[in-house]
Amino acid sequence: MNVFVLNCGSSSLKFQLISSDLEIIERDEDKQLAAGLIERVGSQSLINFRIDGKSSFKSAVPLRDHRAALNYVIQWLSSPETDIPGIKGIEDIHAVGHRVVHGGEAFVRAVKIDNEVIAGIEDCIELAPLHNPANLKGIHAAREVFGPTIPQVAIFDTAFHATMPETSYLYAIPYQIYRRYKIRKYGFHGTSHRYIAFRYGKLTGTPRENTNIITLHLGNGCSACAIKADKSIDTSMGFTPLEGLMMGTRCGDIDPTVIEYLSHKEGSSIDEVFSILNKRSGLLGISGLTNDLRDLEIEANEHQDRRAILAMDMFCGKVKKYIGAYLAGMNGADAICFSAGIGENAPDIRAKICSNMDFFGILLDEELNQQAVGGREMCISSPESRIKVYVIPTNEELVLARDTIRVVLNAPRYA
Ligand code: ADP
Repeated sequence: MNVFVLNCGSSSLKFQLISSDLEIIERDEDKQLAAGLIERVGSQSLINFRIDGKSSFKSAVPLRDHRAALNYVIQWLSSPETDIPGIKGIEDIHAVGHRVVHGGEAFVRAVKIDNEVIAGIEDCIELAPLHNPANLKGIHAAREVFGPTIPQVAIFDTAFHATMPETSYLYAIPYQIYRRYKIRKYGFHGTSHRYIAFRYGKLTGTPRENTNIITLHLGNGCSACAIKADKSIDTSMGFTPLEGLMMGTRCGDIDPTVIEYLSHKEGSSIDEVFSILNKRSGLLGISGLTNDLRDLEIEANEHQDRRAILAMDMFCGKVKKYIGAYLAGMNGADAICFSAGIGENAPDIRAKICSNMDFFGILLDEELNQQAVGGREMCISSPESRIKVYVIPTNEELVLARDTIRVVLNAPRYA
């Protein structure tokens, strides 16, 4: 089966074409046929398509909307010059999987898209006003471009966290307010945390029901997840992705009173304050330089920039705190797994996070830690470490493709 996986942002379209089926999933031999990104949809769009992981086609063309962008991708995939084995036209694509950020309380697993599901995703717009409308644009575009016969599946970022107990997902506000408005912790990055837990099981031979780990998705957005018996029991992002760890541009946990106070002091609207907390805070806000960790490391190492160092120290401190909280909540864990841009590529950050944690029995092997970069999947703790530490590169698109196949074929376990 060739599955087209789509991840739409408000002005971007990210895709992968993956060849797989149920047996191939079992053997872990899914094949990525093509991948790509279109940025600035709606104006002069920037195109970057890849085959076999290598850049294969770059261009800049005006694309008016997501539908035009999708048509452009399909044309490229079908063109004889692109020459993807088994792909001659749109008829060689058998299913489409969509990443949808917010599924609210209604969607706790991936589902086949029909009008009712679309209405349900629309209902969640008020919970994710930045993300769900963009995801819906992708769904509408794909329905038009692929037609009614090709099945489409929605996979929700929030779904994996649907197993959290009330004690984790409720905020300590009047219970009626939760009931009335569904104000609660939902959690995000669910496909990523689920994939990391799956790979951990494969790597260590741990049966799903015995999984007892903390996963750390540290990219531009960052979140931690406590996973017991293969289920999310707590996670750091909340009602929105703003809560929890310090991130590239988001502040993470903060006293909500600051919002009213800042709005009053600066004479700014609530929207403006949220824009500061979402877009101008985190690593960028503290360093005053950038949200990109690579550049902060350069500033810290080459110029001893005080605020770059401070930003990274705060970042690591926050992750440490969540690890501590989850170890307490879980009565210990077997492993901590680092993933995403920072987690997979920044050994010094991993070392700082894991430093002075021998109290918990966490001991890194510094040599292994330095080796674990550029997509390597490996254990980086020393043999004496009571809690093992792993680097596990995430692959959200693969989960989207696999869930799509399972839903389309009515196969079990796509929760
Ligand atoms: P997103 O959440 O946008 O998917 P990524 O998972 O790609 O983000 O992570 C982006 C972050 O990872 C950035 O802060 C970037 O600086 C960092 N990063 C990527 N590669 C490296 C590297 N080689 N060394 C240090 N940090 C890196």
